[in-house]
Amino acid sequence: MQEEKKSLNFIEQIIEEDLQSNYTKNQLKFRFPPEPNGYLHIGHASSICLNFGLGLTYNAPVNLRFDDTNPIKEESRYVEAIKEDVKWLGFEWAEECYASDYFQQLYDWAVELIKNGDAYVDSQDSETIALQKGTPSEAGKESPFRNRSVEENLRLFEAMKNGETKEKEHVLRAKIDMSSPNMLMRDPVMYRCLHKAHHRTNNDWKIYPMYDWAHGESDFIEQISHSFCTLEFLPHRELYNWFISKVCKEGDFPPKQREFARRNLSHTVVSKRKLLKLVEEGVVESWDDPRMPTISGLRRRGYTPASIRNFADSIGIGKRENRIDVAHLEFCAREDLNKTAPRVMGVLDPLKIVITNYPEGKEEWLTAENNPEDENSGNREVPFSREIYIEKEDFREEANRKFFRLKLGKEVRLKNAYIIKAEKAVKDEDGNIVEVHCTYDEDSKSGSGTEASKRKVKGTLHWVSVPHAKRVEVRLYDRLFMVEDPDADKEKDFMNFVNPDSLAVIEAYVEPSLASAMPGEKFQFQRKGYFCVDQDSTPELQVFNRTVTLRDSWKG
Ligand code: ATP
Ligand code: MG
Repeated sequence: MQEEKKSLNFIEQIIEEDLQSNYTKNQLKFRFPPEPNGYLHIGHASSICLNFGLGLTYNAPVNLRFDDTNPIKEESRYVEAIKEDVKWLGFEWAEECYASDYFQQLYDWAVELIKNGDAYVDSQDSETIALQKGTPSEAGKESPFRNRSVEENLRLFEAMKNGETKEKEHVLRAKIDMSSPNMLMRDPVMYRCLHKAHHRTNNDWKIYPMYDWAHGESDFIEQISHSFCTLEFLPHRELYNWFISKVCKEGDFPPKQREFARRNLSHTVVSKRKLLKLVEEGVVESWDDPRMPTISGLRRRGYTPASIRNFADSIGIGKRENRIDVAHLEFCAREDLNKTAPRVMGVLDPLKIVITNYPEGKEEWLTAENNPEDENSGNREVPFSREIYIEKEDFREEANRKFFRLKLGKEVRLKNAYIIKAEKAVKDEDGNIVEVHCTYDEDSKSGSGTEASKRKVKGTLHWVSVPHAKRVEVRLYDRLFMVEDPDADKEKDFMNFVNPDSLAVIEAYVEPSLASAMPGEKFQFQRKGYFCVDQDSTPELQVFNRTVTLRDSWKG
């Protein structure tokens, strides 16, 4: 028990302490609160795994709450994408909630605040209001409208709501303390006028609540016990509590905000605003471009839900912001795919081999194991013939002893097939090797039990039979940014660090068993990495995304 306690993260410790004092287990309730202004990214995965993970640990409900208070940036297609991503990650929410469902309640509460002298309509423009805020060491200046009568405030607020005032004419502000050391407590804006249609409430509202007013009250309405957010909200906590104290009656249960550190990933950006820019400027094709650090991009790239959950769990929850090397995310992909992805053969950069002593026109179907890591995965048949492709890089006319691949006069084993020996490199006029002539040892067939089949040769190569091979498109990805932290340079915008070579499209040849593979199916191309069938595939041309290589090519 002591041991277990030690491994609790600080968020779990807070909950355990609360359970020891004034909370009961069935009061626990959490939420994940995305704003539907873009797609979820790998940073969000940490928040999702935290909140839904706590739900599983404590058998407590977790709401999916859309923080949809800004119609300028929000769209229902983002709502749909977010729901799909959370589901795909393997989590189930208790209720699907929207801050916009609480607009009437929030309005009614704001009216109460006005009546109690806790809010007022300010008729100054936003620049003036900002100037009056003061600095952390210097008190702000009170607005000349701060002491409007309740009646006038009510009349104006209603006019704002009905769209009878212009957009920037008035705002509603909380009346707190213009000299508070916490700048956020200096009469923050609660409502602004926006004559813009909302994706759910259409034109019902001409005023929209600000984040601080909407968020805590939404937590209160849903009776969330612990509202976890990222560290930048720490100074907002005082305001969060102030707003809740204004609507929370004796005996009510106020939610509690606690903060954890954002997770960043190297060689990319995790901010919806920046990711949107990459899409809008055509750096990537879409939000789900396999180079994007979005959940949908990673899914299309071939990541599994388990690999993303494992990534989030392994980096844990912290109090200090940090940047995780993308190599760690790739490691998590490999670890999971190694267990589950069937092995196949595909040649990315073909060199033709002619086996001169293999009869012309003959074909054999050889048995290959689908996944040595999974004994239930069975076998398949792969065709062999006189002409095969191997990787260009797997042949050299001459090479030193460390080159355990094919070289003139030496032998290698073809995976699941025979031992071959390179006899002659056939060249064109320019001296480029166009094909290699080999001979094979007829008795060396893998698994045949003969002495020759047990013969040890140094290298084993993957291959595909030329007449049976399927031509496919392969998309190879590199890091989207050339530097670890594209935001590090304060002088240069992150867009300056985009890697111009983050995508290479090539033609490749794969074994015919892949012909029936459907979009989303994942494979290990032996010796080449993990690949996933892309949604752009057509009956004429399959497209494969390389998820990751087999080894971390960046660490040398
Ligand atoms: P972005 O800057 O990308 O728009 P955000 O914080 O504005 O991010 P929200 O939709 O408001 O995006 O986030 C939903 C939840 O996910 C919030 O609780 C937020 O704190 C959390 N979150 C967002 N980004 C990260 C991150 N990089 N690491 C951990 N949690 C995150
Ligand atoms: Mg946000």
